[in-house]
Amino acid sequence: MGNGIWETLNGRNEIPQSVKRKEIKTLPAFRFPISYTLPSTFYSMTNKHSKERILSGMRPTGNLHIGHLLGVLENYRALQNANDCFFMVADIHALTTEYERPDAIQAASVEMVKDWLASGINPDVAVIFRQSDVPEHAQLHLLLSMITPLGWLERCPSYKEQLRELNGRELHTYGFLGYPLLQAADILVYKATAVPVGEDQLPHIELTRELARRFNSLYSPTRPVFPEPKSLVTQSPKVPGTDARKMSKSYDNAINIGAGPAELKKRVNSMFTDPVKIKIDDKGHPEGCVAFAFCKLLKPDGAASREALCRSGAIGCVACKKELLELLDGLLSPIREERKKIKDSDALAVLADGALKARQEASVVVEETKKAMGLFTASIS
Ligand code: SF4
Repeated sequence: MGNGIWETLNGRNEIPQSVKRKEIKTLPAFRFPISYTLPSTFYSMTNKHSKERILSGMRPTGNLHIGHLLGVLENYRALQNANDCFFMVADIHALTTEYERPDAIQAASVEMVKDWLASGINPDVAVIFRQSDVPEHAQLHLLLSMITPLGWLERCPSYKEQLRELNGRELHTYGFLGYPLLQAADILVYKATAVPVGEDQLPHIELTRELARRFNSLYSPTRPVFPEPKSLVTQSPKVPGTDARKMSKSYDNAINIGAGPAELKKRVNSMFTDPVKIKIDDKGHPEGCVAFAFCKLLKPDGAASREALCRSGAIGCVACKKELLELLDGLLSPIREERKKIKDSDALAVLADGALKARQEASVVVEETKKAMGLFTASIS
């Protein structure tokens, strides 16, 4: 997930006395005529039977790549029309590991929203907001911290794993340990009923459910304040990096969503293929080939014939990569063109509008939480 930094919603950090619906201004018309198509297997998340309230966030720690597009944004697109969605730029979460370079987080947040908008995430149907613009996340995080046993956080598998992975960084901070608790507050502050997650995030949703149960039983057993959100485990396609490792900007093996034609060509040409297939008519082994993995993702119905051509030596890697380049360009060029039209000010306007909508919901939940805990807001006039 996510990371705060431009002008705040109202230039102050105070809690609004109320955030009323009538205060939400309608932004100038801003539409995203996305026309790219993907195999239908990516659209697996729509709930046809009931509308869920969904919260999901992404950490703005760098340019989004095609792995994010196929693994996350496609699910967002599928979810947004059938559900009540809140999509969060998780900038405070990014601070937990990137606290020494907040300027990078600020810039990445705007770029990320531009990627979202260009990819078809629609602010007319989903609430798109930045975590740091909604101080109720921090308030609920503090309130919930009173009832969170330390052991619950210390036992989170991702905590120890990340400490190991990010070895050399000073991460023995309260914020880093409390990351899953902030995630729980992000979810509960909207009373979200469902959270799309990868399998590695399941323990965090379980922690959120435990916290909801603990809070309800402590303070409001007959009339629970928080629902227990369920996990929507996403069947995200595995998208390899160009060198066959996991796609990551730190490995310099990623294909960014906004990549231009020259960059795309460079990335495809550098893709790892079968090292024993040198000449066109050498018999190939597509199973370890990154170019084949991409072709299979982008055009699944052509995979069997491509595999046969490769194995029989009827196609060479140069021709194969040329076809892949066309497929990739077909996917990314509409997004690239759309992205060119989106200005920083458009992204910021979407975030400002989203923050108002988000606060309208979150402020009510925080008040309800405080009341259940015996805290009351004094009226200041
Ligand atoms: S022919 Fe295509 S699938 Fe076969 S190894 Fe070359 S790039 Fe990969």
